[in-house]
Order: sequence, then C-alpha cells, then structure tokens
Amino acid sequence: MRHAAMVQRDQMPAFEVRTPHHTYSNRVERGILARAAAFIPERAGKLFAVTTEDVWRLHGRTLEGQFEPEKLNVLFFPGGESKKRLSAVEDLADQMLAKRADRTAVVIGFGGGIVTDLSGFLAAIFMRGIPVIQIPTTLLAQVDAATGGKTGVNLIGGKNLIGSFHQPLAVLIDPDVLATLPPREYRAGLFEVIKCGIIRDPALFRLLAERPEDVLKMKPEVVDELIAAAVRIKAEVVSADEREGDLRRILNFGHTVGHALEAETEYVRFLHGEAIAWGMLAATRLAELLGMLDSESAERIKKTICQYGPLPAAKDLNPDALIARLGSDKKTLQGKIHFVLPSKIGEVEIVSGIEPRIIRQAIVDSFE
Ligand code: NAD
Repeated sequence: MRHAAMVQRDQMPAFEVRTPHHTYSNRVERGILARAAAFIPERAGKLFAVTTEDVWRLHGRTLEGQFEPEKLNVLFFPGGESKKRLSAVEDLADQMLAKRADRTAVVIGFGGGIVTDLSGFLAAIFMRGIPVIQIPTTLLAQVDAATGGKTGVNLIGGKNLIGSFHQPLAVLIDPDVLATLPPREYRAGLFEVIKCGIIRDPALFRLLAERPEDVLKMKPEVVDELIAAAVRIKAEVVSADEREGDLRRILNFGHTVGHALEAETEYVRFLHGEAIAWGMLAATRLAELLGMLDSESAERIKKTICQYGPLPAAKDLNPDALIARLGSDKKTLQGKIHFVLPSKIGEVEIVSGIEPRIIRQAIVDSFE
C-alpha cells in the first residue's frame, strides 16, 4: 500500500505555513537549489548568503552561478554550537554593513540548523528586521530547524536562550544536497523524523520501522517521502500554533530529557538528534511506567529508534544531575516540568507533575 503522503516524482510538494502575519511555502524538490534565484523577490537589494566553508565548498557553486557577483555576498560562519553566539551575529551584521546592506537586503541561510537559526536571527534584528530565505542542507534542518520561524543563539547558560520568531520568505529543501552529508548527521536527522511519526503520523512511523535499509541507503523516493511527511507535520503544527502556546509543544517530544543530556555533556558528546533519540526513549519508558502506553507500542518505538543507532552512550551520566537540569530548561514554566508522552503511536499528551522518582526510573531503565 502506498503511504498517504507518498511523493510523486513529477509532483514534488510544497507545504504552506500560515501564521497571523505571514504565509510562506516550504518546497521539497530535488534540484531546487539550482533554481533558488526564482524565489528571490524582484525588489530585493543585496543578497547575503550565510554559510559554512564546508557547505560552500560542496554546494556553493550551484547557488553562486545564479547571481551577478555584485548581487550575492557570501558571509562565512565557523560553524559549531559553541560559535552560535550573539557575538557571531554582531560580526555578520558588521560585515553586512561594510558591504552596504540596507533594508532591502535579503539574508539566505545556507547550511545546517546552526546556520539557519543564526541567519534567521541575524535577519530578524538587522535594521529591525529584513527577510530571510532558508536553504537547509542537513536532514535535521530540512525537516525541523529551517521551518517554523524559531531563530536564535546560545548563552553560556543554555541553548537558544536569545532569539525571536522570524518567519522566512520561503524554505527551499533540496534532498539532493544530503548526498554529501556524513552518515552520522543523516541518522541524527532521522530521529527528528521518527519523532514526527510518533507524535502525529503512524504511517510515517511504519515506514521508518519497516524499511530501515532503504532509509539508511538514502533511497531517493523514500528520503523524499520522509522529508515531505515531516515538513507537512511541522507546517501544520506551526500554522495552528506559531508561538508554542499549546499544540506546538508536541514537537518537543524527546526534548525534555534531550536538552538536559546536551547541556550535561556540554554539547559535545551528542548531536542534537541523538540527544533527542535518548530523550524519546526516556519519554516512552516514562509513558509505559505511568500506564499511558502499552508495552508492545513502547517496544516498537524503542526498536525503531535503536535500529538507526548507534547512539553515543548515556548510561554513565548521573540521572539526578539530569533531573536537576530539567528544571532549568526554557520549556519548564514556573518550575513545572512538562513531558510530551506517547499514548499510542501517532498520538501524544502533555503531562506535568510527574514524581521525580518515576522520571529517574524511566531515565535509568532507558539508558541501559
Ligand atoms: P549543524 O548545523 O551543525 O550541521 C551539521 C554539520 O554538517 C555541520 O558541520 C555542517 O557544516 C555540515 N553540513 C551541513 N550540510 C551539509 C551537507 N549537505 N553536506 C556535508 N556537510 C554538511 O547541525 P544540525 O543538526 O543541522 O542543526 C542543529 C541545530 O539546529 C542546533 O543548534 C539546534 O538548536 C537547531 N535546531 C533548531 C530548531 C528550530 O526550530 N529553530 C529545531 C531543531 C534544531
């Protein structure tokens, strides 16, 4: 049977995000990078592509060839979570000014999620806001970071603690660029796709559960289908709840413990998607311990996540130190820790007020 969102090769999908102030399209299309110029508004002044050297070396020529040299300026960012800081935004803004950017300038975020978060924030605050077009080049950024308008940078005290909502003009998703992605980065992105399946799309989950070889071999029609399904979910959820009032919180499945793991290991041991994978395992076990999720579904979720491993070890980490960190996450509101927990595959609930003893047990059991 065909998956509901099966992508026709000749009819690649576009998913609209509709927010109160802005509507834009997320286009999933092989080769769209070579047509990026068609998405730049005619009135646009100078263009500023923010990227990293590796991405530019691999894919920059395709973008560069579409513009007059005086129109497109390339700004390099060193990359890495530790460099995703306010100082980098200031440095990029200074470079834009030196190249005579004005309010007609357009930023192009061209890279992984770190670049799209940083570029979006740069665009949000440069001269009080200019447009940004996102061209994400990792799976994680294509299915998650580049869509939805959350932009920001890190503080020493925590991730993404300075930022703003700034919706892009368009998100151009070219699955062809994933061919150069290191396998570990690809697998890290897959965990965010698994997340989408668990929270809202049993058919997507089934595809990931049942066809790991095709997924891991990056079979084009399978990859296109995964991306399309995940982008559709993100676009639907953000359209219904741009500012994370309620529904958008379901996208945080796996992030409560995931963020604590990243912080506890100073953002070096785990890729973001890997930390979320552990977080989903812990949340699934927690749902099982609370009697919300049957053991068969819990086992199926666990098996599906683990078949896209290996994950860097987590069992040496002190569960009490992780629990202490849960309270300082920005998703904790007025001291209340919220968990997004599966009640079945394709459905989640937001639960708070869980006894620390049970959270601890879920962490210990799932990190084995
Ligand atoms: P990343 O941006 O560090 O990219 C991973 C690595 O892959 C980098 O070294 C990058 O240069 C390289 N790379 C990128 N594209 C490539 C390609 N096509 N071929 C070869 N190498 C390539 O990591 P990421 O996982 O993409 O993003 C993680 C960031 O995304 C985190 O900072 C996280 O907070 C953020 N994020 C934001 C949101 C949001 O809603 N704004 C959602 C999820 C994650």
